[in-house]
Amino acid sequence: MNNVIIIGSGCAGLTAAIYAGRANLKPLIIDGYEPGGQLSMTTLVENFPGFPDGILGPALIENMRKQAERFGTEFKSGAITDVDFSKRPFKLTAGNDVYETSALIIASGATARLIGLESERKLIGYGVSTCATCDGYFFRGKEIAVVGGGDSAMEEANFLSRFASKVYVLHRRNEFRASKIMVDRARANEKVKFVTPVAVEDISDVAKGGVEYVSLRNTETGEKSTLPVEGVFIAIGHEPNTKVFRGKLDMDENGYLITHDGSRTNVPGVFAAGDVQDHHYRQAVTAAGSGCMAALDAEKFLDANKNA
Ligand code: NAP
Repeated sequence: MNNVIIIGSGCAGLTAAIYAGRANLKPLIIDGYEPGGQLSMTTLVENFPGFPDGILGPALIENMRKQAERFGTEFKSGAITDVDFSKRPFKLTAGNDVYETSALIIASGATARLIGLESERKLIGYGVSTCATCDGYFFRGKEIAVVGGGDSAMEEANFLSRFASKVYVLHRRNEFRASKIMVDRARANEKVKFVTPVAVEDISDVAKGGVEYVSLRNTETGEKSTLPVEGVFIAIGHEPNTKVFRGKLDMDENGYLITHDGSRTNVPGVFAAGDVQDHHYRQAVTAAGSGCMAALDAEKFLDANKNA
């Protein structure tokens, strides 16, 4: 039986654990499929306050983990496969293990969709990125590509044009899912060039540990080509990690958890923090902030429901 269980060990979950630990709640973190979350997949982080020279994403996460451990957080690995919120204590199943908890903080994050290429996976943090806000600055004066045809791709292309000398938008169709105003804005940007309809078939050069060019296939004619770029931003959407909560917690049409009055979900005692409930800001610092909010809300809830 636990006071508070936190699902997810990214920035939001670890910050929640630091606060819950310092409130003497002895939190238990269940790690999930991607321990450390998205920060553990990135390289230099220059916009997390307190690190004037930047800090490597994995090092930042490791520091947070140690800080959480210092205040009594216990960690278990495993992914939650079922939840029962019908009464308190809540029951969580992770494979063969069943956990009970008086309060729950969900910080299971969102996973950036990837095209699915081996080279893409190997070059993440080495020229391939899923976050323009985080990594755009590293591509000053360079030619880069953004993959996708939704609002994110348009927004990222415009944002990246502040740094890059040229931004190619690579999209698999000639039509765009993005709203017209976003497409028009990107088209009006003289640094942005659209290349459609193309599928990215490979990103080179894994052997050299950096991006030199992308291999493209025209999805209508089948014609193959290459495009020299030094960076590739994948902007083909995110998937919130909420499958296990379907039908049990309120979500928006894209599966993000809906929170109100801070970090509260529709089930009293269940709180949500970080990207699992935020598809808008998606920053390490906002995730950390919402993790803090969830821990404070959980602490207050436990105080008010001591005998429940
Ligand atoms: P999205 O709307 O789902 O668009 C994803 C795009 O990526 C689509 O163009 C899709 O192509 C493409 N794609 C998906 N899988 C792919 C694959 N395996 N290979 C190549 N291309 C692939 O996602 P999003 O742009 O992240 O937007 C998510 C939500 O946030 C939307 O509701 C959006 O309106 C909203 N948003 C709003 C703003 C804003 O208003 N400022 C900014 C960002 C996001 P197809 O079209 O061919 O399927």
